Amino acid sequence: MQEYLVATSNPHKTEAIRRLLSEYPLTISDLSEHDPLPVPEENGESFEANALIKSRYYCRLTGCNAVADDSGLEVDALNGEPGIHSSRYGGEEMSHADKMTKILAALEGVPEEKRTARFRCVAAVTYPDGREYYAEGKMEGRIALAPKGDGGFGYDPIFLIPELGQTVAELSPEQKDSFSHRGHAFRNLMEKLQVEHGD
Ligand code: IMP
Repeated sequence: MQEYLVATSNPHKTEAIRRLLSEYPLTISDLSEHDPLPVPEENGESFEANALIKSRYYCRLTGCNAVADDSGLEVDALNGEPGIHSSRYGGEEMSHADKMTKILAALEGVPEEKRTARFRCVAAVTYPDGREYYAEGKMEGRIALAPKGDGGFGYDPIFLIPELGQTVAELSPEQKDSFSHRGHAFRNLMEKLQVEHGD
């Protein structure tokens, strides 16, 4: 069975990626099972570039098959911001509660139909022999008028899925996986690997 390292220092992402990969016949480890490593600088200009920066970096330092993702929230009325800057929006030190308040303030007066937004994710894998693959996923929705729900992480409480009438923070982890950008990206990545490896 192939072993894959879930290469992210975000515990929410570790948990989600582990859950998504548990559907496949793989052995999975994560960074908590390795000596602490400094985080790589995410200076790419796209989700794909940043996902590959992370998977390459952790593959090189650990010698493992490394999977990583890069993700973020694009708000149409804010010209796609915060996008690849989602974790740094308002400053690295600003809490997600405050980042959400900042987005809601920027959207004040914007009617519901113009509050369209999406989460994007690129999942990437790098193998020690240099092969690498990536795949994308997205989840369309709207920015709610106020935060709701206490599940998930990051911007989940203000991201409304109109078909459900619920924010992502009101979903169970499994429901979130079935809709989420990360769920789609990792399922697409695994499909690519199955095609490439013929298994
Ligand atoms: P990354 O670690 O550089 O990929 O940053 C991702 C950032 O995008 C997170 O810190 C959150 O701000 C946001 N984000 C990505 N995925 C999610 C999600 O599933 N829910 C809520 N926020 C997310």
